Amino acid sequence: MKLYNSATHRKEEFVPHVPGKVSMYTCGPTVYHFAHIGNLRSYIMEDILEKYLRYIGYEVTRVMNITDVGHLSSDADTGEDKMLKGAQREHKSVMEIAQFYTDAFFADCEKLRIRRPEIVQPATGMIDAYIRVISRLLETGYAYQAGGNVYYDTSKLERYYIFNEHDEEDLAVGVREGVDADENKRNKTDFVLWFTKSKFEDQALKWDSPWGVGYPGWHIECSCICIHYLGEYLDIHCGGIDNAFPHHTNEIAQSEAYLGHPWCKYWMHVHHLNTQNGKMSKSSGEFLTVSLLEEKGFDPLVYRFFCLQSHYRKGLTFSWENLENARAAYDKLVARIASLDTDGAPDDPEAAPYEEAFRQPLGNDLNTSLAITRLYDVLKSELGGAAKRALIAQFDQVLGLDLLEKAARKQAEQAQVSVTASAGYTVTGEGDPEVDALVLQRAEAKKAKNFAEADRIRDLLKGQGIEVSDVPGGAVWRRV
Ligand code: AMP
Ligand code: ZN
Repeated sequence: MKLYNSATHRKEEFVPHVPGKVSMYTCGPTVYHFAHIGNLRSYIMEDILEKYLRYIGYEVTRVMNITDVGHLSSDADTGEDKMLKGAQREHKSVMEIAQFYTDAFFADCEKLRIRRPEIVQPATGMIDAYIRVISRLLETGYAYQAGGNVYYDTSKLERYYIFNEHDEEDLAVGVREGVDADENKRNKTDFVLWFTKSKFEDQALKWDSPWGVGYPGWHIECSCICIHYLGEYLDIHCGGIDNAFPHHTNEIAQSEAYLGHPWCKYWMHVHHLNTQNGKMSKSSGEFLTVSLLEEKGFDPLVYRFFCLQSHYRKGLTFSWENLENARAAYDKLVARIASLDTDGAPDDPEAAPYEEAFRQPLGNDLNTSLAITRLYDVLKSELGGAAKRALIAQFDQVLGLDLLEKAARKQAEQAQVSVTASAGYTVTGEGDPEVDALVLQRAEAKKAKNFAEADRIRDLLKGQGIEVSDVPGGAVWRRV
């Protein structure tokens, strides 16, 4: 497959370090609040990458960290501690909110059919590894102590900033974010590996270290967790585009200095979900969650479908109107699948080109919207219903839209279900056992000449918008 590599700024043929196997690392959420649907856009698109790699036969091992320590409100080591801020807001301990929002995150992922990585590692669980790596960086001269903290010395690298073609300009912006410059830093791009002199007197989580009691900087967790579980050579590292600098730049700096060789070959960055007022973020502006979408009556998979309709390397603007359009398209798609017949064989050889046509755009830097178009092509084709369903089942291994399940549910709703009662009385209806039972009770009341009761039930059903018609040998009901 071809994948755009932000490290080289071009699409490249993907070749893993070990043939047939892929190691994949994802920066996980900072668990001080619910994930917003922007965060989840990143996780949906990374999920598509993972599922596509599996679909074309790779064995994928995926690792995700959970940031429950060390992330300050500015990525440049300044501002407030995000976890502490969350705990104070909710009058809970840091570990309580970490657990709560981690669970909430995975509940959202499940609703969006985002596969949970096989390894999920909270940052607080690997302090020993950070101490080991930081010690080595100090020994080899890549790190220094100043003012009680340990810093990474970015001047020791041949090339520090690699993700953007407009290095200097963006670097300036990135650094400007850290308004209250840290005078301990030797270079403006240096970053903290270990804090002991924290401006947060009440920092909740602290650990002993050779440099004093303190806590790790944000970036070190990803390097250490990744190397610990996936080894010295990583195939793909993913995250949202805002993670590229300084987080990923710093991960590369630390990891390569520690390992002494190149570390990760492919970097995949998902561009932002924006509102009409700019980037959706946890700290400012409009903050939309999966629960809010549900409250407004949207199936979370409509949001997944919405994300798949655009390319991951372009910003995506959210509006309720856009989401409404996605819902209409998704519902229509499900309805079309529900109306397929069962003609023909599922393994029709004529289906092969359609499978290839689906694989091709995904293999070209995950063109999900074109892949969906290819799914519509299947529906429009001359193939029999059975072959169409088989193809849709295959495609949905990557798309994760529950298409056949949703279609089956729709069919069941639409189906005319018959219930045969004793003595050959048949109720035919729209598949609601409660209504069937009431219709039967009415028939029994009539048989017993209890017409008042029979009329009462008829009126009750009428009140629910249900019309009952007597037919030879039974009754038929329908919603009007
Ligand atoms: P955080 O919980 O802030 O550490 O972010 C979790 C993931 O969401 C990271 O990969 C971010 O880069 C990504 N992210 C943050 N904001 C957005 C956004 N508006 N659109 C897409 N991805 C985002
Ligand atoms: Zn990370």
